[in-house]
Amino acid sequence: MNVAILAVQGAFIEHAHMLEKLNQEYVLIRKKSDLPERIDALILPGGESTTQRKLLLELDLLEKLKQSILEGVPVLGTCAGLILLAEEIGTGEPEVFGTLPVKVVRNAYGRQLGSFSVEGNFGKIEHFPMRFIRAPYIEKIFRPEVEILSVTDGKITAVRYQNQFGVAFHPELTEDLRIHQEFLHC
Ligand code: GLN
Repeated sequence: MNVAILAVQGAFIEHAHMLEKLNQEYVLIRKKSDLPERIDALILPGGESTTQRKLLLELDLLEKLKQSILEGVPVLGTCAGLILLAEEIGTGEPEVFGTLPVKVVRNAYGRQLGSFSVEGNFGKIEHFPMRFIRAPYIEKIFRPEVEILSVTDGKITAVRYQNQFGVAFHPELTEDLRIHQEFLHC
């Protein structure tokens, strides 16, 4: 199984460590030639979505990865990764992949709550330690098929739509492997 982790910027190495703990091999995607012929799963890490967007375009990675997502390759986007997936970004910035039918609001918790941790549910997974770092939240859902997996303080913070998981928090910054495990078996 070829699990690709986008590794142009941000917290990609933490996702790699999660996969190592699950004995799952992976490939880090830093440039176009790193892309395997077939991707079986894709992880989009947290970081800075505007920088990631710029690098995806400069490195000519955007179209190929978008095509994989549209073909049904399972994708897990965390924090900035969720922003990359969203069909609409609240600040009026251009969409990046735009494959996930939701609207996100960036840096939505304000500066005083830039970083915080809570425990919550992720679908059937209970008591998951959620780390939020200048996180977005999901303001609108455009299709009834979008399944809400987590709600934090009344705001939607994780969804699944077909092959796409969009998560506002950082499961890769915890010791809890359950979300990665579920993703790899989806
Ligand atoms: N605030 C970042 C952005 O807008 C996301 C933060 C994160 O990924 N931890 O891209």
